[in-house]
Amino acid sequence: MSPPPIGAGTRIAGVIGDPVAHSASPALHNAGYAALGLDYVYVAFPVPAGRGGDAVRAMPVLGLVGLNVTMPHKADAARACDELSPDARVLGAVNTVIARPDGRLWGDSTDGEGFVRALRDDGIEPDGRSVLVLGAGGAARAVVLALGRHGARIVVAARRLDAAVDAAALAPDGEGRGYDGLDSCVAGVDVVVNATPLGMHGEPPPFDPAVLRADHAVIDLVYHPARTPLLAEAQARGVRVAANGLGMLVHQAALAFRAMTGREAPLDAMRAAVASGPDPAPTRG
Ligand code: NAP
Repeated sequence: MSPPPIGAGTRIAGVIGDPVAHSASPALHNAGYAALGLDYVYVAFPVPAGRGGDAVRAMPVLGLVGLNVTMPHKADAARACDELSPDARVLGAVNTVIARPDGRLWGDSTDGEGFVRALRDDGIEPDGRSVLVLGAGGAARAVVLALGRHGARIVVAARRLDAAVDAAALAPDGEGRGYDGLDSCVAGVDVVVNATPLGMHGEPPPFDPAVLRADHAVIDLVYHPARTPLLAEAQARGVRVAANGLGMLVHQAALAFRAMTGREAPLDAMRAAVASGPDPAPTRG
């Protein structure tokens, strides 16, 4: 189904970021509109650091139906919202803002739930699993919050112990630690999640991959390159679930799509857009 031509009635959504030129979001959302024949268009707005709140507050004035928010605006955008979802409130960050018909701005963070949906696509139910999350930044915090809610036992390892402890506190009984003794920690968990940028430029994982077993699941939030050194090491050791961050990228977008259009996202069309579409690196969201 093709969407109607862009006209005066076309609804406008977009993504703000700095940089934003290589965001995968326009490809994802426009593919969804095309698949459903929706009279919407989705564009990338380069918004300089420090102006994210202004951009969000302008949404009702310009009649924008929704914005996705990527670095460095996630916290500023959250502060500009009138209401936040429970996740966004806890994280103090949003990746999705909806302008309601009355002009009120509602913010959500769909990264964590998007991650859990991608994990389930790979056949892994978080409930009762032990998960090591590497990194304690924005993505790690969203993942920890969602995994903890879905019953996973969480260890967060980061090079800054205070950040690891802080992120781990988002999950019931979460444990924060540094990188010392990481090999035995990896050996003791079911799932390893890389939520650091390590691997984007060929960097090896911060533990000895020899400790990986076939029954581990390894998820790298990095998706460019599609096969990071961590995933290559995991595959070489017969790890059955070794997935990159494309699944999370598609699902976080699908949740935003539903919030912006009121329609279930056409996942296959969105997946196809990032599998064959423009190179999504180096930004995300
Ligand atoms: P962030 O807020 O900047 O956090 C990055 C984390 O990685 C911090 O804990 C940081 O530690 C750590 N880190 C950075 N460089 C490191 C290094 N060389 N060695 C060890 N630790 C290092 O970034 P983010 O937004 O959480 O994103 C993290 C990764 O996830 C990025 O690669 C991003 O592209 C990816 N991501 C993917 C998706 C998706 O949909 N697939 C969504 C969001 C993010 P310090 O605090 O000590 O610097």
